[in-house]
Amino acid sequence: MSEPLHDERRLDLAGIGAGPFNLSIAALADSHVPSFTAQFFDRQRDYVWHGGMLLPDTHLQTGFLKDLVTGVAPTSPHSFLSYLVAHRRFYRFLNAELSTVSRAEFSDYLRWVAEHLPNVSLGCGVREVDFVDDHFRLVTDHGSHRARHLCLGTGKRPWLPAFAEPLTGPRCLHAENIAHRSRDFSRQRVVIVGGGQSGADIFINALNGHWGTPASLHWLSRRRNFQPLDETAFTNEYFTPDYTNWFTELDDATRQREVLAQKYASDGITPAALLNIHQQLYHRFDVLGEPRWAHLLPHREAVDMESVGEGFRLWTQHGLTGDRERFDADVVIFATGFQSSLPECMAPLRERLALNDDGSITVGDHFMIDWDGPSQHHLYAVNAGRTRYGIAEPQLSLMAWRSAVILNHVTGREVFDIGDDPGPVEWRPLEARDP
Ligand SMILES: Cc1cc2nc3c(=O)[nH]c(=O)nc-3n(C[C@H](O)[C@H](O)[C@H](O)COP(=O)(O)OP(=O)(O)OC[C@H]3O[C@@H](n4cnc5c(N)ncnc54)[C@H](O)[C@@H]3O)c2cc1C
Repeated sequence: MSEPLHDERRLDLAGIGAGPFNLSIAALADSHVPSFTAQFFDRQRDYVWHGGMLLPDTHLQTGFLKDLVTGVAPTSPHSFLSYLVAHRRFYRFLNAELSTVSRAEFSDYLRWVAEHLPNVSLGCGVREVDFVDDHFRLVTDHGSHRARHLCLGTGKRPWLPAFAEPLTGPRCLHAENIAHRSRDFSRQRVVIVGGGQSGADIFINALNGHWGTPASLHWLSRRRNFQPLDETAFTNEYFTPDYTNWFTELDDATRQREVLAQKYASDGITPAALLNIHQQLYHRFDVLGEPRWAHLLPHREAVDMESVGEGFRLWTQHGLTGDRERFDADVVIFATGFQSSLPECMAPLRERLALNDDGSITVGDHFMIDWDGPSQHHLYAVNAGRTRYGIAEPQLSLMAWRSAVILNHVTGREVFDIGDDPGPVEWRPLEARDP
């Protein structure tokens, strides 16, 4: 690094990234373990939550009580309710009777917490992490730091089909970039690939003319239909500490099978968004009689794409008939999700970490990464253990609980009560339980 390094502080815990998951740890450490020196570094100067997908009419899939702290510390000053009170809109919020908070409001709540916390450094990317002598050494945009323990919270990176990678640009893009610049889809042929919540959010905005009125809009999904998120009561039991503890006891193959089977408990489209889309389509094309320029095409897997002149030709395969279909488009948006990967700044430690075949991290007990360094130096990771901890791991639902598990472990104290009474569902075989 060419810049002079300064401020070689010795921290108990250094966090790379301050997205909601590490921010939750920062918030709980600030209020409940003040003697513990932790610092979380995020490259974002102006804090925003998935800013590239912050579109109008987008909402949380989870309730606002599943905020940074409330699940384990309901009196914390960093709760969503504290945010509402501090902004003098508690009563108006109640009167609005919102069933879900907008992503814009939740993003602003996260920003408010991040900007208030002394243990969060914004505008401070981590460039390099290594283990030197008896500590982790972080080189950041504004100096270097030493830390006994590390928590990796850099999120996931967008995933695109391989055939689309070389074509990416302003007109062939991943959903996560759509709101990063102004766009004009007027009179354009627009194709959205991906039948999850992000695809739905983009479809509804395109339908409502957020980027101008397209000539045509095709929404393709590999799924057999535009599948709803299962938000029913017993499915929601998956998002509890009790279930998560049980899940970690299962063997690898069983856990992987269950994660696949539970897909729509975390990956579907909210019923409210589906109904909104259906009602708008009905009103526009059936009642008002607009020529039908918006089309929903489930059971289509995008299999190939080429550039043709200024635009693209996308090929799909039908999931039931095997038919190949062709879509000519001016704009193609891939709402095809995210994948885990080790961030570049961790390259010096790569050889020392246990990684899966796809390069993702292996997360063990207490959300720790297996590594070959001294065992008294812990390397934690959040949002990296879906096959270890289940479908709740990449979600907001249990983030406060996970933060409490990590803080209890790293401090060696029972700072938070992380126990959970068994719920109504008997997940474990009865004979395996204590009498
Ligand atoms: C559009 C969208 C909506 C979602 N909505 C919901 C929802 O409603 N409910 C739900 O339960 N889950 C939701 N999720 C899933 C999940 O809760 C979020 O993805 C969540 O943001 C994950 O938090 P994170 O902290 O792991 O990662 P991120 O939010 O991705 O944050 C990672 C942070 O790390 C920083 N960073 C990266 N590299 C470095 C570096 N080298 N140095 C410093 N900083 C770095 C980034 O700037 C970023 O701030 C949603 C996901 C998306 C994409």
